[in-house]
Amino acid sequence: MENWLKHGADASNAAETDRKVRETVEAILGDIAARGDVAVRELSARFDRLERDDFRLSRREIDDCLGQMSDQDLADITFAQEQVRNFARHQREALRDVEVETLPGIVLGHRNIPVAAAGCYVPGGKYPLLASAHMSVITAKVAGVPRVATCAPPTNGRPAAAIVAAQHLAGADEIYCLGGVQAIGAMALGTESISAVDMLVGPGNAYVAEAKRQLFGRVGIDLFAGPTETLVIADDSVDGEICATDLLGQAEHGPDSPAILLTTSRSLATDTLREIERLLAILPTAGIARQAWERHGAVCVVESDEEMVAVADRIASEHVQVMTRDPDFFLDRMRNYGALFLGPRTNVAFGDKVIGTNHTLPTRGAARYTGGLWVGKFLKTCTYQRVLTDEASARIGRHCSRLCALEGFVGHGEQANLRARRYGGDNIPY
Ligand code: NAD
Repeated sequence: MENWLKHGADASNAAETDRKVRETVEAILGDIAARGDVAVRELSARFDRLERDDFRLSRREIDDCLGQMSDQDLADITFAQEQVRNFARHQREALRDVEVETLPGIVLGHRNIPVAAAGCYVPGGKYPLLASAHMSVITAKVAGVPRVATCAPPTNGRPAAAIVAAQHLAGADEIYCLGGVQAIGAMALGTESISAVDMLVGPGNAYVAEAKRQLFGRVGIDLFAGPTETLVIADDSVDGEICATDLLGQAEHGPDSPAILLTTSRSLATDTLREIERLLAILPTAGIARQAWERHGAVCVVESDEEMVAVADRIASEHVQVMTRDPDFFLDRMRNYGALFLGPRTNVAFGDKVIGTNHTLPTRGAARYTGGLWVGKFLKTCTYQRVLTDEASARIGRHCSRLCALEGFVGHGEQANLRARRYGGDNIPY
């Protein structure tokens, strides 16, 4: 039986916030579609205090950003990028093209073809989230995308040096200093100075996620990757300090980030609640983390590991940290999650920053139908077919002819009849 010791905010507020975000984004995208660069410039000045005529960074500006980074910073960024690239390459190798003879003379296949141009958003409103550059740009490049454009908002009106360094080292072809809906809109719709891309990827706040959602169809998107969520699954094999640390470590993302503890141990639950208060008194980012915890933090006590699986699958959280005696129990049974972090030796920050799995992950229940960003998201799986012999063409033609007749498709049927006549000698009148 589920016992919720603490609940998050009520859903009616969330619906009202969603409506406001939806309307704001719709208006901004309409403005960009109508006025192009002029609108993007005005919106950037309004939301990001950015005053630039040309959003694209020059080589001199990129070098200037690289020059602001210490050797250790650059070495750490390079290490993280190597891990992301290495895992992405293994995932790419696992995606093979297919060609198979399914019947005598019938050859079917598929090719994985990268999109021609991807737009990678790197968030930077509250923190310069440089890790998102590794996750999007490197993954696109490993997938074989020829043109990778990337946008990130400025910090204090100027390009964020750490983000620009990461975007450049990841291999971006075009780097723009642009944030929020105006970045997403400009990349998807195209303006006088930014050519439209085929696909948008990358995480962002509620405005960014909603802009991608509204533009889907006009361009492809990776997934709905909005404000971060975390779920900690734990039993009494761990203590309150580690659970509280892992909950607040994600709550600091923003006031709209849920952090939930799901446990079979009531004493761990109360210990964690106490530890959260202790940590909130000393965490420098407590201003944000406390809002997130008060609005969306939750603690649920259940009776068994099976029940934890059921509740976790219903929540379908972006991140799921498992700290129980047998973490593989959850790996084997859970269906709905963005990424699993198995055992207390790893944690979400490893995945967010450096270990090599992608940190762009589904939020708000999207884990029910998709995993996170990976090379496969940049590839279109396109099929082809060949019929090698007259016999095969006539054989399929006869089946096809009858099936078309069932649907009343006379024109389709004649395509099949022609093959049956020409390659099988059948006596089917036109
Ligand atoms: P951001 O870059 O996503 O958003 C900043 C931009 O939002 C600004 O440039 C501004 O243009 C726009 N904006 C702000 N207020 C606005 C308003 N009222 N109207 C219209 N536009 C407005 O940076 P952020 O805000 O720090 O958010 C980053 C988000 O990314 C966090 O919510 C974090 O949890 C999320 N994230 C998600 C994942 C994932 O995989 N799901 C991964 C990393 C980060």
